Amino acid sequence: MKKALICGISGQDGGYLAQLLLEKGYEVFGTSRDAQLSSFNNLKALGIYDLVDLRSMGLNDFRSTLQVLKQVNPDEVYNLAGQSSVGLSFDQPVETMESISFGTLNLLEAIRFLELPVRFYNAGSGECFGNVSGKPADENTPFRPRSPYAVAKAAAYWEVANYREAYGLYACSGILFNHESHLRPERFVTQKIVSAASRIASGSKEILKLGTMDIQRDWGYAPEYVDAMWRMLQQDKADDYVIATGKSHSLKAFVKAAFSTVGLDWESHVVSDPHLYRPSDIMTVTANPQKAKEVLGWKAKMTMHDVVREMMANINSGINSGV
Ligand code: NDP
Repeated sequence: MKKALICGISGQDGGYLAQLLLEKGYEVFGTSRDAQLSSFNNLKALGIYDLVDLRSMGLNDFRSTLQVLKQVNPDEVYNLAGQSSVGLSFDQPVETMESISFGTLNLLEAIRFLELPVRFYNAGSGECFGNVSGKPADENTPFRPRSPYAVAKAAAYWEVANYREAYGLYACSGILFNHESHLRPERFVTQKIVSAASRIASGSKEILKLGTMDIQRDWGYAPEYVDAMWRMLQQDKADDYVIATGKSHSLKAFVKAAFSTVGLDWESHVVSDPHLYRPSDIMTVTANPQKAKEVLGWKAKMTMHDVVREMMANINSGINSGV
């Protein structure tokens, strides 16, 4: 039985990845900064809370990282932990850099120090590309990050590439574009939109305030994206892959899709509030996930509209329902 260690198991991707690996017969271990206090609502919502072995580990605490890796001795390590909100990264740039960039470095160092023959996955981000107009971003497109979050993810990406080249570690970065589900917390704009549309459909008189609605993103479905992570670690050679649907939509289109699912005209319920604009944002981005299709045999099935329907349909069964 293979052993997998998921760092950041309490998050959206951590829950879906744990579910996938359990289905594949793995023994699954997961970390949280405080496994005693964390509610693990996502694992409970997915009905797998009792099936995983949970440990406390602070990624920027080298000793705890070393200790958990030594105790678990995993075959595969998935690093999903860290401050994951682009918006919050403007308010907490140091925390963002420490948890993502230094956290990844600590994990790589601990693996190297213990000489563990593990396969390592790192959660990279399509945010690293910044604005992309013209040719869609692929694995050879230069990074031009536009947020502290993306700067930290870009640093972590190069750490992984360096440890692979310098020390021969089996280490991959998945350059994942946005992926959503009903397990997304309401801090993220997609869940904020879906939750508001649902409340307004039930009679709430609120007005939903959003930042700029002209931004474009590539939105996919989280359970499909964790499958891509797993596939990356099953290859003979470690490499990096762009994971996306290949289709971008404006935030306005996402809003329209959510409100029309419940028969509402979004323009009567949503305003754009300049106070919510980010200091710098990505306006346009398109992705080319062709390499993942050719090498991993992975292709997104769910479109943005499918994702909206899934989130609307399961609005009361995720982390936001207070499970
Ligand atoms: P979540 O925010 O849902 O989960 C991340 C986990 O990291 C949390 O559950 C938390 O676990 C831990 N964490 C949060 N803040 C910190 C911090 N400051 N220091 C250390 N640990 C922290 O993220 P997702 O599951 O959505 O994403 C997984 C990974 O993939 C993240 O690294 C994210 O940046 C990246 N990513 C996600 C994309 C998406 O669209 N979802 C797109 C591209 C990349 P706990 O509180 O239990 O310690």
